[in-house]
Amino acid sequence: MAEIAFRHVSKQYQNASQAAVDDVTFEVEKGETCMLLGTSGSGKTTLLRMVNRLIEPTSGEILIDGRDILKENPIELRRRMGYVIQQVGLFPHMTIAENIRVPEEISGGWTKQQMRARVDELLMLVGLDPTEYRSRYPRQLSGGQQQRVGLARALATNPAILLMDEPFGALDAITREHMQEELLNIQRGVRKTILFVTHDVEEAFRLGDKIAVMSEGQLMQVGSPIELLAHPANTFVSRLVGADNILRQLEYLPVTIAMVQELNPDAAPVSGEPPRCPSTATLLRAMLMLIEKNVTALSIYDEESGRIIGYITLSSINHEITKSGGRVKSETVVQ
Ligand code: ADP
Ligand code: MG
Repeated sequence: MAEIAFRHVSKQYQNASQAAVDDVTFEVEKGETCMLLGTSGSGKTTLLRMVNRLIEPTSGEILIDGRDILKENPIELRRRMGYVIQQVGLFPHMTIAENIRVPEEISGGWTKQQMRARVDELLMLVGLDPTEYRSRYPRQLSGGQQQRVGLARALATNPAILLMDEPFGALDAITREHMQEELLNIQRGVRKTILFVTHDVEEAFRLGDKIAVMSEGQLMQVGSPIELLAHPANTFVSRLVGADNILRQLEYLPVTIAMVQELNPDAAPVSGEPPRCPSTATLLRAMLMLIEKNVTALSIYDEESGRIIGYITLSSINHEITKSGGRVKSETVVQ
């Protein structure tokens, strides 16, 4: 069962001419990181905040573990979710340890000793040395370090779901990349269900198992990064994800997408099979192998069976990535 399910969810603010969120339906599986990607004003924050009931939908349903959240106590509901925002929102007059303890104190049932141990454990998880940082105040931390504390606090009571609203949006590019790596590392261990708002396509591709693309309150498409690149549902998605961005295609698309069944005689090696490349490699990796080995073709093998399933050449890669415009399924183009 999906951990979070949106069913025809709409939000119409008073005095607004257009719905901020318009009939959105999709699901997020347990342990999945789902990115909400869209330009400013597309309804991402509104959709996210309906999950912890900071905003109530005008119509539609949101189910968590199959249960309608509108039938639950909002306070109880929020305890089961961590919430991380760009502004972090640490209390300035409280130490780092006290800030992280807030959710535990609210939820109750923790002894002082348990809380102390948990704070240290969380600080280590987010890459801050507890002895150095637990007694500091927020102003004595950099923006990136404060964001780490925000993440630690969101994880404090071990919630199943994490809601993140442009958490790294205010950080410089290098720190942001660090934090993205860190989140991927943490997520490999803790496996939360994460709903993550961003307007940064690169961030969506780097972090997302799945990306939900929003525009003017509507869900344009939901799918894996590869699905969005290889089969954008309409020209909006195609432009946004850069289906015509050659580097991104090389970086994310699997080699199998440009595979051919037979080599034409020009590309075939004089003797024997071409060098082998696994079917899980990206186009970029295959291209680097072609250059490095100074060959015209690679044979693609299935990693389980070890069998050769096709071939790839520079020209088959070129053919695939230059047809990008043709990828958009014409019947679904939004006018
Ligand atoms: P995003 O997070 O994608 O930038 P938001 O969900 O914040 O988008 O906003 C979606 C739309 O709803 C925007 O047009 C915004 O102006 C409008 N909006 C957001 N909050 C309110 C509000 N409290 N009252 C009226 N309109 C709002
Ligand atoms: Mg927003």
